Amino acid sequence: MMHVQTSQIWTQAQRYLATLLLCAFGTFVLPQADSHAAASQTQTVWKAGLARVVITPEHSMWMAGYAARTKPSEGKVHDLHAKALALEDDGGTRLVIVTADLIGFPREFRNQMEKDLRRRFELRPQGLLLNASHTHSGPELRTWRATQTFDLPPEQIELSKQYSEDLQGKLIELVGRAIEDLAPAQLSYMHARAGFAMNRRLQTERGYTIAPNADGPVDHAVPVLRVDDPNGQLRAVLFGYACHNTTLDFYQFCGDYAGFAQQYLEEAHPGAAAMFISGCGGDQNPSPRRTLEWAKQHGQALANGVEAALLTRPRPLRGPLRLALEEVTLDLAEPPSREQLRQQAQSADKYEQRHAEDMLRELEEKGGIRTTYPYPVQVARFGDDLTMIGLAGEVVVDYSLRLKAELAGPPVWVAGYCNDVFGYVPSERVLQEGGYEARGAVLYYGTIATPFAPSVENLIVRKVHELVELGNRPNSTPAKLVARAHNSGFAQAHDSYNGMGTGSDGKIYYALSSESYEVGAQMFCYDPVADKIEHLGDITEACGEKDSRTIVQGKVHVNFVERDGKLYFATHVGYYSIIEGMEKIGIPPQGYKPYPGGHFLAFDMAARKFEDLAKVPHGEGILSMTMDTRRGRLYGLTWPTGYFIRYDLAAKELKDLGPISRQGENGKGENYRTLCRSLVVDPGDGSCYFTTGDGDILRYRYDRDSIEAVEGDAMRKDYFGLYDPTSPGHMAYNWRQTIWYEPEKVVYGVHGNSGYLFRFDPRTGQVEVLDRMTSLPSKRSAMFDQFSYGYLGFALGPDGRTIHYLTGGPVYAGGRRVTGKTKTAMGESKGIENLHLVTYDIKAAKYADHGPIFFENGRRPAYVNSITIGKDGTVYTLSRVTEEGHTRADLISIKGPFRSN
Ligand SMILES: [Zn+2]
Repeated sequence: MMHVQTSQIWTQAQRYLATLLLCAFGTFVLPQADSHAAASQTQTVWKAGLARVVITPEHSMWMAGYAARTKPSEGKVHDLHAKALALEDDGGTRLVIVTADLIGFPREFRNQMEKDLRRRFELRPQGLLLNASHTHSGPELRTWRATQTFDLPPEQIELSKQYSEDLQGKLIELVGRAIEDLAPAQLSYMHARAGFAMNRRLQTERGYTIAPNADGPVDHAVPVLRVDDPNGQLRAVLFGYACHNTTLDFYQFCGDYAGFAQQYLEEAHPGAAAMFISGCGGDQNPSPRRTLEWAKQHGQALANGVEAALLTRPRPLRGPLRLALEEVTLDLAEPPSREQLRQQAQSADKYEQRHAEDMLRELEEKGGIRTTYPYPVQVARFGDDLTMIGLAGEVVVDYSLRLKAELAGPPVWVAGYCNDVFGYVPSERVLQEGGYEARGAVLYYGTIATPFAPSVENLIVRKVHELVELGNRPNSTPAKLVARAHNSGFAQAHDSYNGMGTGSDGKIYYALSSESYEVGAQMFCYDPVADKIEHLGDITEACGEKDSRTIVQGKVHVNFVERDGKLYFATHVGYYSIIEGMEKIGIPPQGYKPYPGGHFLAFDMAARKFEDLAKVPHGEGILSMTMDTRRGRLYGLTWPTGYFIRYDLAAKELKDLGPISRQGENGKGENYRTLCRSLVVDPGDGSCYFTTGDGDILRYRYDRDSIEAVEGDAMRKDYFGLYDPTSPGHMAYNWRQTIWYEPEKVVYGVHGNSGYLFRFDPRTGQVEVLDRMTSLPSKRSAMFDQFSYGYLGFALGPDGRTIHYLTGGPVYAGGRRVTGKTKTAMGESKGIENLHLVTYDIKAAKYADHGPIFFENGRRPAYVNSITIGKDGTVYTLSRVTEEGHTRADLISIKGPFRSN
């Protein structure tokens, strides 16, 4: 999704080379060298197009912004406008910026626009930036607000809906006109300041209230993007300011100070367009306020700021335009209990009562309250001359101050109120202090159930860094290992674990998971020769539960084992409820029955047919599975309790040998233990080995049909780390992934978290640590895995002696390690990381890190916990794939270092 232009790199390299050569020839030629450099700096030939449309409602309408309004609008001060600036670099990359005198664009609105613009003008999602001025004197276009917050009469709700629909049409047409208007242009950047924004968070005895605070942080910058035609004639100014458009609170439509600033600039520069972009003004108010006169004066002050900027030396903008738009999942605070909500629903405060009722309804209908928010972040880089960041929501000023301080290099322009205005986005500081922007506003907005968790600031800032850094990638050393994303056509696919295997037919079999309660995991087959993906079937259907209205089979959490032309595997639940920060089997939504339990399945590769073998008891999923192919036995561990189950193919007999480690992940405190993710069979005597969180190695004995502890060694090793096995969020002393190595008749495995490779000899019971199999940067940083459980992508290559391991590596930005969460109660990645391919040649005892893997577009594969290796040595895995701003899980392939043709 990042548009890369190699010509730019060459231009820079050539310039550098030219400077070097000229330096060698003597100082007298230097002025020439400088002018040559200056000429090449301005050689990007931009195109720019502009359009505008009046969006003042034709009727009296309810106005957005203040909850205390009592009646609809009464006339207007001036017209409200939407304006579009289309930009195109000389590589054809397009960015359209749409600004409007409105309260904010909701996400749904943007999604619809995105779709239509793509269909009609082939505009890519990252090429559209929507920004609203947040005027509180515009129409209410958010129907949900009209209903929930304001109790508006039906005809007003209808007007709001109608307005929003008409606006959609107008804006599509507006963007079309701006694109049509594209003509050669020059772009430059400059800035000045204006002083009327004041921090509005004042500490009082009753906590933080909304009142002018002359000592609070502000961002008085007025960034300006200037658009000229090739003759230097001004065509447009795009300017920003970080302040609420809340000078006014009367009943006439008006753009407030931003409306006046645009009006004054356009009057001063006939024929040119002035466009306002909101900054991070979530906690900023204009001061003084409440009269039309003040709104005009602030408008004039801001227009003066723009005029002042225009008098400074412009910084010409070169391309290429590098665009990125992605979501980051933000954590919300833990929702209140049902009991607390019932109490809140009795509150005398209408907003509190209504909010509690909404949450109770969500709890009833969906079985849980959503604890995350998908937050869009947009970055537009104008070569190395300007970085524009578009943040969603009512962002407080701390974000722009921090990002401008942290992002070294070209000027940084941080806009708030972009793409999705769903509520306030407090910083960690504001959250700690409390008050309206931290908590209070959640009740009025009704879009998120609870305030953000303190991680919100770091998660957003980190995402910005990541997207800005993506634009750098073309200039850094190219990765040796390049991943190719395949498209299985399952857009809902979610993070998948194991669920892979290479068939004896040379094809790659895999299952993609889902976290929905109604659409379950899907199985696919990739044919490397034909380069084609075949959808083999729906796993829930294969279990005979297609129309049962039970929670679906959302996952295949185990690898495929082949025997007599059939692939054997097991199914697992993918729909969870998060209870006290831990994942539990999802509470069924209304009309759905509970998860029925995991199945053992077989897939006949020749007949292309599924066979349902057995369902495990207790309504639990199958977390781990292996097969004794000689004796026709399947072994499984269930989740969350950890029953050990065996299934005999010949006798068609299922036997439950009981829980193996307290109450497993179903227990609490003393009774909690993480469960082993990897069972391994010794084909010699049919024993099946696995571990417990306490580090004991257990053995199922085929001859006695019972489980016993292995005498001798255990997995409790100093180098593996110190764990409290009663606490969640790590695999404790369990081994993470194992394989049977027939030449030595031993188990090779990796311990998660520490990443130590070990060898377990069942005859002596000895566990021998061989090497640390993490990525080289992880070894050097002496850090544990970022993925809290460690990695599952651990398998023998086709040569039968080289272990392939897909593992993480730390990411460094500006020389500093990018850090994530310090603690988690779930199996998740604590921060962003690179994906490395590490191999270990067992015979030669040779470790090698083959380096980080990147997609061609510079993105990193993420949430990688599976592996299978094709017959030609190509490495296949399942990863998050982000294309066009949307993320799914899918098959990816990497031409491995040991690839044979
Ligand atoms: Zn606001």
